[in-house]
Amino acid sequence: MTNNEPNPLPVPAFTGGTKAITRTPIVGTPSREYAEMFIPGEEELEYGEIRVTVLGSGNPWPTRAQASASILVEVGNPERDIFIFDIGTGAIANYASLKLPVNALNKVFISHLHADHMGDLITLSGSLSKVGRADGPIYVWGPGGTESHLGTKHFCESIEEALAWNNAADKGAINPDSQRIVSSEFDFRNTQVIYEENGVKVTSFPVVHCISGAVGYRVDFAGLSFCFSGDARPSWPLVRVCEDGVDLLIHECFPPAKALAAASGLSIERATMALNAAHTSPKAAGKVFGMVKPRMAGLWHTLLSPQIIPMIFEELSSVYKGPVVQTQDLTVFNITKEAVVARQVKQFDQWPPIPGKQRVIYTPVVEEPPEWWADELIPLD
Ligand SMILES: [Zn+2]
Ligand SMILES: [Zn+2]
Repeated sequence: MTNNEPNPLPVPAFTGGTKAITRTPIVGTPSREYAEMFIPGEEELEYGEIRVTVLGSGNPWPTRAQASASILVEVGNPERDIFIFDIGTGAIANYASLKLPVNALNKVFISHLHADHMGDLITLSGSLSKVGRADGPIYVWGPGGTESHLGTKHFCESIEEALAWNNAADKGAINPDSQRIVSSEFDFRNTQVIYEENGVKVTSFPVVHCISGAVGYRVDFAGLSFCFSGDARPSWPLVRVCEDGVDLLIHECFPPAKALAAASGLSIERATMALNAAHTSPKAAGKVFGMVKPRMAGLWHTLLSPQIIPMIFEELSSVYKGPVVQTQDLTVFNITKEAVVARQVKQFDQWPPIPGKQRVIYTPVVEEPPEWWADELIPLD
């Protein structure tokens, strides 16, 4: 290697890597020492800190390496609130590996209703209620559409309805309140505060993606901020909502069209179309980063392979020189006043769910079995 060549990038976790994919894992001077890898359960979130963990970094087709779209935000307030931004397929499996309480996972913010951004809502509602998410409903915030059937409210009501058998089957065994999905729909067109509680403020803003009704979010807590594009072409409202600066901006980024075509099996024409019509190229993401100038930037929703990653950084660096992380599943950011630090979580594949503190005591009720079972059940002696 000559002196002019940049340092090599860490390899992805799914090929054995242990570091965040970046040449700049630390921005600022941290006031405490961070272990090289984030070990779940061993690091308390500090008061006044934000921790952002990518639960799903990938594509509409989940793989064992990359779950579909999802980002977890934990804030260091006395309540230790947890928020999930998008809940694509595979997100819940990655949540389980973080050793975080299931019962705290009840606030979901949806950027738009593409399946890769909400596929695990059924798991959260129908299945995690069996293992500790038992206190009450799931609360879902999301945009309305240009017509009511295209909005978050209609979507949540339809999911609840579709879970009729699931919920009837679990009747008596679990708190029926925990099977409810309560939606708060807002106008996608406006940049507006849609959540404000316990010192945490969430602002939604419109983004350009496929059809009307897609948004991004900004989270503010204790003077720190995180902005998330959702799926988006480069959009002015995101730049405007970050006008006063932002600590971490995670923006979607698709690989260059040639790489996308080679890796996904799409023709080059279709890959180019998908990229230009709905998404953001590395160069375009670099342009947005140059306008926003976040302390730390993250690329997300990227098809990753050891071949693609250097192509992304090369294209991006032609327009943006600031600190950038190519996120992958379980990339974690610690945001404090002093620093923004990016690491990888040490993965544990088979931890049981941690229920967490139950605020509501529910006593199970035994339901009468159907009469025909008496004849059809094989007796056990
Ligand atoms: Zn989308
Ligand atoms: Zn998507």
